Amino acid sequence: MEQLIEDLSILKPVWPVRRTPDSFGVGGETEACETYQTCKDSDTGKSRKLYIESYGCQMNFSDSEIVASILQKEGFDTASDITQADVIFLNTCSIREKAEQTVRNRLIHINGLKKKKPEMLVGVLGCMAERLKSKFLEEEKIVDLVAGPDAYRDLPKLITQVDEGEKAINTFLSREETYADISPVRLNSNGITAFISIMRGCDNMCTFCVVPFTRGRERSRDPHSIIAEANDLLKKGYREVTLLGQNVDSYKWSEEENNKARIEKKGVNEVVNFANLLEMVARVHPDLRVRFSTSHPKDITDDVLHTIAKYENICNYIHLPVQSGNSRILELMNRGYSREWYLNKISRVREILGEDCGISSDMITGFCTETEDEHQETLSLMDQVQYDFSYMFFYSERPGTLAEKKFEDDISLEVKKRRLQEIINKQTGHSLIRNKKDVGKVHAVLIEGFSKRSNDFMQGRNTANKVVVFPKGIHNKGEYVNVLVEDCTGATLIGKAVNG
Ligand code: SAM
Ligand code: SF4
Repeated sequence: MEQLIEDLSILKPVWPVRRTPDSFGVGGETEACETYQTCKDSDTGKSRKLYIESYGCQMNFSDSEIVASILQKEGFDTASDITQADVIFLNTCSIREKAEQTVRNRLIHINGLKKKKPEMLVGVLGCMAERLKSKFLEEEKIVDLVAGPDAYRDLPKLITQVDEGEKAINTFLSREETYADISPVRLNSNGITAFISIMRGCDNMCTFCVVPFTRGRERSRDPHSIIAEANDLLKKGYREVTLLGQNVDSYKWSEEENNKARIEKKGVNEVVNFANLLEMVARVHPDLRVRFSTSHPKDITDDVLHTIAKYENICNYIHLPVQSGNSRILELMNRGYSREWYLNKISRVREILGEDCGISSDMITGFCTETEDEHQETLSLMDQVQYDFSYMFFYSERPGTLAEKKFEDDISLEVKKRRLQEIINKQTGHSLIRNKKDVGKVHAVLIEGFSKRSNDFMQGRNTANKVVVFPKGIHNKGEYVNVLVEDCTGATLIGKAVNG
């Protein structure tokens, strides 16, 4: 393994990334679900213009960059203005009903544009495309092309098909596709922080979740191509990479084998696991910070925690979604752990990484049959853990999921929303308590750019993933600076740059 780490550390190949936002994220960090990102302009004299709007998780943003890369080779520049586009793609999310409704509403608006410019091609990509398949073409007459998450290499052919007057669709899910060889075109980057997709799909089958059906079976990407991407980002001036997967802790790759079941049977020395990969990426360069998301509480190992502790440039932060604080609900959700098991895992994180380690979570209120007492257990678990921030949702039944087939969605919307508000209020309090503990301490901050509110202030993150704002002074984007935190809100640490 040491040798493999050495071998991979000297490879120097190619590529780039960026960060996103979510509706009920509390505590400074945001992720995307009902929000979207567009792409920036590229003008390299290509004959056609592509406009991509990306909805949902970081994985979708990362996928849009793969799509742009594939189409760049086929004569497309990207446009930031939808009215300039020859091809419009919506890269969609199915995780909650609201995310799908947002896309449907957007298509109504795009229909207006298409009336003025009938030759404009409209395509739907991603999870909604995969879930609805040809039904999409029937239900939304404006849509010309439908492509699932594993069909992006086929897009040039699908576009040609539409150019020739047909509707086009490919929703085939692959067991092998990782787009490992494709160098993503960075669409909306701050030039400092980037995402690297390390695996695709999910085999976990949480009963509430549509992802295993829309993104297919789990597969891990060749670590050589991951290290190559990290090296290229470093060369281009990036200083932070976030390794992305639905369950990064189950990352496993073998030189000889791409079948997950057979990889599981191999000896530890024949397989690259997530702790190994993390170490390899950390060794690309000490100035390149490494983050990762998402960890699964049932799979994160002590090895991963010790690797985080060993490398200064692996950020002291873990996103460890609990979903519920009640063991019966966790079992109904098929999460593979109980409340006690989760709390033991948090104790291990604190033992190995200390009290300052940033911990965040995802939570769902009003899952099928959840009682008032069980909801109280989520609140009491939050009191015990004191998350730095959380993404919180009320349960949204998704067609085709195990929960939809097995359980009744029996908690009223009113109760779901009230419970959600209670956990949001709890999290708001905890975020402030946690941030207050950072006041009076010096934090190493990677500067990502100007503060959102004023160009007199810079903004970056500390290792625990908290946003830190301070007066600009002589500092520039991409630099590391020590900031003495003097004040805070629940979302932001506020301070001044200091030496040493
Ligand atoms: N793979 C990650 C994990 O296991 O934690 C996250 C996947 S999902 C894209 C992000 C979050 O959406 C989940 O952690 C869960 O809290 C939430 N989510 C998923 N399905 C949902 C549903 N049907 N209703 C409400 N929230 C849901
Ligand atoms: Fe969905 Fe569970 Fe997989 Fe996360 S681990 S993507 S919640 S099935």
